[in-house]
Amino acid sequence: YLKIENVRKSFGQTTVVQDFNMAVERGEFISFLGPSGCGKTTVLRMVAGFEQPTSGSIRIGGKDVTNLKPNQRNIGMVFQAYALFPNMTVGQNIGFGLKVAGKSKAEIDKRVDEMLELISLPGFGDRYPYQLSGGQQQRIALARAVAPKPSVLLLDEPLSALDAKVRVSLRDQIRTIQRELGITTIFVTHDQEEALSISDRIVVMYGGKAEQVGTPFEIYNKPTTRFVANFV
Ligand code: ATP
Repeated sequence: YLKIENVRKSFGQTTVVQDFNMAVERGEFISFLGPSGCGKTTVLRMVAGFEQPTSGSIRIGGKDVTNLKPNQRNIGMVFQAYALFPNMTVGQNIGFGLKVAGKSKAEIDKRVDEMLELISLPGFGDRYPYQLSGGQQQRIALARAVAPKPSVLLLDEPLSALDAKVRVSLRDQIRTIQRELGITTIFVTHDQEEALSISDRIVVMYGGKAEQVGTPFEIYNKPTTRFVANFV
């Protein structure tokens, strides 16, 4: 469903991603796992359209999106830090993408209520982000990302700013919501346990390359390179 083919990315003389190939099935939950600086975020940013590959191509649902702008790709994204609009209510945050897309107020209100149910925060629509915990804010960021029904959901270390207990419960909640919506998802993390517990498949990255692609079981029990064995 999502195809990344022979992608390379260089900044000036430095190549940060190379020989990157990945085919993600529709509805699959894939993690990019690797140490800091291995290129995970750069690949994600190329899928989102914030960066252009130096060479190679990216396809979503059979369509070549390599040269499309971010807003032409139908992608939802959640970042590490709470990136909610602080001056908007929760409801306005969740409805933002729908408003930009020109949906009617009735449609937006209905969808916002559905999304608040989905993230188990019914009745929170009139609150402001500063009145909420970090975990609640990330759930709202997730609701905002999926409200316009994107074809792909990109999650860039969405749990890393949260404390351990919230991290585990939100991790499980993300997976439940992802399954419920059947949305194709890429999840970036440097946390081995997180990737092993949440993913259908994991791409272990090192030095801008995919070292191994496999199920959590395969990655954990049958590492094919020394790096994967040591890292996982
Ligand atoms: P982290 O977990 O620390 O975010 P990462 O695996 O996501 O790491 P990237 O953010 O993709 O890694 O960065 C990969 C490499 O590319 C790093 O060495 C980084 O310094 C470099 N890099 C990223 N963006 C740029 C840029 N705009 N210009 C130059 N170098 C960049």
